[in-house]
Amino acid sequence: MKSQDTRQRFLFDETHIRGEVTTLNESFQAIQQRQDYPAVITAILGEFLAAASLLSATLKFKGIVSIQAIGQGDITSIMAECSNNTQLRGIVRGDYQNIGSEEGFKSLLGSATLAITIEPEGRERYQGIVPIDKDSLSECLEHYFAQSEQLSTKIKLAANQHTAAGILIQEMPHSSDDEQARDNWQHLSLLLESLKPEEQLELEHEEQLYRLFHEQQVRLFDPENLQFFCSCSKARTAKMLVSLGADEINQIFQEQGIIQVNCEFCDQYYQFDQPDIDAIFNEPSVH
Ligand SMILES: [Zn+2]
Repeated sequence: MKSQDTRQRFLFDETHIRGEVTTLNESFQAIQQRQDYPAVITAILGEFLAAASLLSATLKFKGIVSIQAIGQGDITSIMAECSNNTQLRGIVRGDYQNIGSEEGFKSLLGSATLAITIEPEGRERYQGIVPIDKDSLSECLEHYFAQSEQLSTKIKLAANQHTAAGILIQEMPHSSDDEQARDNWQHLSLLLESLKPEEQLELEHEEQLYRLFHEQQVRLFDPENLQFFCSCSKARTAKMLVSLGADEINQIFQEQGIIQVNCEFCDQYYQFDQPDIDAIFNEPSVH
């Protein structure tokens, strides 16, 4: 039975290289269940979710990593996020009902950028942006790591309608810039390159690592479980309303008498009446 909704760290002994491998099934199903995505869109969203799972494993603090492509094609936005406590959500926005099944990630988005946002809990968020000028999400993310974090990183992603999978290896910061370290990195990245999408989607994590690195000393750590969870709440939705400004809010009240908001990630319904809104706007103004 293929690993369900897990992520595992691995280390290569006597090198400065670490890795993460992930597989998503039920969480991926739960995220796409609320939408009516065509197969090609589901697979692209799956790659974003697997990537968010891998990237959140690189956080050294509590927080959320989100990966968002913003484009000008039929698809205007693809977004996936994962928190350090392994909660995932994601969404695709745009006019996707009539897209061709052969279209790739880059052509669907048109001229686009990829934003990687890290929100540490209780601290200012920061963002790295790279152009989407490569044919795959994994190549764009490798570019991001080279540019923003200056870490050699190799990523492979794969997804179908049911499963999303990803594997990453990364050179950890180290002082020895010797030939041996460079050779190790090149050798392991070449091996990773040989992994086929069907192997990622079908093989257990242990089997994938054995298939790739059976001549290396690899230590595989215990799996962490991932799940779909939406971080929305009435309080966060209220904050979003406040950011629209009092004029806009008052106008909606005049037209509709009530404000109704549906969370696009999980379909949760929030309703705000006049006393709710008065409370939101008056809250910070205690003198
Ligand atoms: Zn929600």
